[in-house]
Amino acid sequence: MPRRTFRIFVELEGMYRNLVEQLVLYAVNNNITKFTRLKAERYREVRSLYPQLPSHYAYTACQDAAERAHSFLRMKKMGRARKPYPEVRGVSIWLDDNLWRAEGLTSINIATHRGRVRVPVELNKHFLRYVNRGWRLASEAKVKLDHRERRLIFYLTFKKEVSEYRPKAYVTVDVNEDAEAVLIDGVVYLFETDLSRVTLGYYYRRKRVQERYDRVYGPGSRPERKIFKRLSNNEGALKKEIRWKLAALIAREAAKRQAAIVLERLGKEPANHMIERIKDPQLRHRVFQAAFKGVQAAIEEKAREYGVPVIYVNPKDTSKRCPIHGAEIIYGRDRHGTCSKGGETWHRDVVACYNLLLRALGGDGGHAPSRLRAFVAVDGGPVPLGPTAAHEPAGVPRALWARWKSLGATSERKLMRVSA
Ligand SMILES: [Zn+2]
Repeated sequence: MPRRTFRIFVELEGMYRNLVEQLVLYAVNNNITKFTRLKAERYREVRSLYPQLPSHYAYTACQDAAERAHSFLRMKKMGRARKPYPEVRGVSIWLDDNLWRAEGLTSINIATHRGRVRVPVELNKHFLRYVNRGWRLASEAKVKLDHRERRLIFYLTFKKEVSEYRPKAYVTVDVNEDAEAVLIDGVVYLFETDLSRVTLGYYYRRKRVQERYDRVYGPGSRPERKIFKRLSNNEGALKKEIRWKLAALIAREAAKRQAAIVLERLGKEPANHMIERIKDPQLRHRVFQAAFKGVQAAIEEKAREYGVPVIYVNPKDTSKRCPIHGAEIIYGRDRHGTCSKGGETWHRDVVACYNLLLRALGGDGGHAPSRLRAFVAVDGGPVPLGPTAAHEPAGVPRALWARWKSLGATSERKLMRVSA
């Protein structure tokens, strides 16, 4: 942005920050967390402070301040606020529909104390993706000044009118350390992610680097830190790519079938038997983040983008009982087990996926199709889990699924080759 134009926004930011600071102070002193009350009590005062500023900034500053006061007072109540007053550090200027409008896809018009200013915009990929999927811009926006690059960063909100999404089917996802088992159309696909192996691999590499560099340069040296940084960047980027690609694949398949995605509800303290063997608490945390929380977050985000609902079910003992007989499954060393009643063999991840499905069906009566209908939709036969059915997941290595756009005909052919 030209220096002269940017100057206007620097002034605007200063005034806005001042408004918010004063309002937050007042709100916290008077225990106000509601925008309406703050506005009722302070609007006139705030308005007179900067008469040259468009009046709607007084509104948005009240909204901004009320939200800051609200979260500060809540933290204080929980004893987690360190200071007596909230600090207004980062400021993004809140805009309502009076203060900004988009002029086509090329510029944005913003009301300032020096009149309306037109700013050319550069759209990112994310923006276009949402627009293409039928999302529309909401009237509220935030703008942040990037002083170093002398540009504005816009934060936009998208909205979409959705008709009630009645799931016709369910896609259930069971997340493991190194794979995600996904039940689609009666087939359990085991998409390998190797996330815990990636985490462990980098962990040990860091350890080796540390030992070697500590010996040569002493602990915490510059070259060591530099390598650490590079390693953690690489690790992060690789995991992110794995998570997003698979999440997109799952969300796309669910949307295609008008299905809901079923996930395990993860508690704060995951009593997960799969990471119990990892003793180092820091490493446990990392593996957990990589394999469970991060994966779920990616699926949630992608599901939102595609308008697919996500259902959470109780994860307790999902792989312990036979989905047909309800009897306990006795597991051997590998991930295979035998039903103690029917004697049939099960793969652990197949059991988990089907039990997640059963819980989703039993859960909310309102949206769930009847058990039978869902089963028919799921695999085309009345007894999908008959003892003769294959209870083996179709394993898909990462190198393969990472290139898929969808579970199309070609991918299934490839899959046959892989499992053969
Ligand atoms: Zn059984």
